[in-house]
Amino acid sequence: MNISATRARPFGSEACNHRCASGAANQPRETRASQIILEGTMGYTITVDHDKCTGDGECVDVCPVEVYELQDGKAVAVNEEECLGCESCVEVCEADAITIEEN
Ligand code: SF4
Repeated sequence: MNISATRARPFGSEACNHRCASGAANQPRETRASQIILEGTMGYTITVDHDKCTGDGECVDVCPVEVYELQDGKAVAVNEEECLGCESCVEVCEADAITIEEN
């Protein structure tokens, strides 16, 4: 759920308006909470191609919300529901093993 990321910028900011497909940032304060929770439940789907993954752990180190763990030398998204969609893991993965899709 990305509530903490949404709160990192003031409600109604340009970034919030761009990021939030629900339009919650433009709603009266009383209606924002339920819409933000709805956005958070939409989430992201993470796919790690274990044929490509080298197990270097770069995604484990870079992820700000500790989505990944190394299991048997491969990255596994054990907390996928926490994903913020920042794509830092995608950028840092030299093996190009990770894809992030918005649900
Ligand atoms: S996109 Fe990658 S680095 Fe960013 S929060 Fe999701 S799993 Fe973590």
